[in-house]
Amino acid sequence: MYIIKEKTIIISIDTDKCDTCASKACIDACRKYARGILAPDSQGAPSVAHLSEAETLRLGTECLACEYACNTRGRKAVTIEAPIEGLLAYLAKRLGG
Ligand code: SF4
Repeated sequence: MYIIKEKTIIISIDTDKCDTCASKACIDACRKYARGILAPDSQGAPSVAHLSEAETLRLGTECLACEYACNTRGRKAVTIEAPIEGLLAYLAKRLGG
């Protein structure tokens, strides 16, 4: 599993699926809808290894395009988490839990 951390989201990519993905739709979507931070690594899987951690944080737009593109034209390898600080405490309070 390849993990990319942006400012408020965490992108997990099951790169085992990327070997047999002909579209590489995530990389195209990143170029088209964001700043193109995803680039193919030596195996053809999406990567930000060409960027520093600081550059990834600065350039990442958190647009979610890679997940949508992978779900529709790739192999459903991308999962994005968007943790919201305090959400569980809020729900517990609101729902009386
Ligand atoms: S579209 Fe999905 S399966 Fe294809 S290379 Fe990108 S992350 Fe991997």
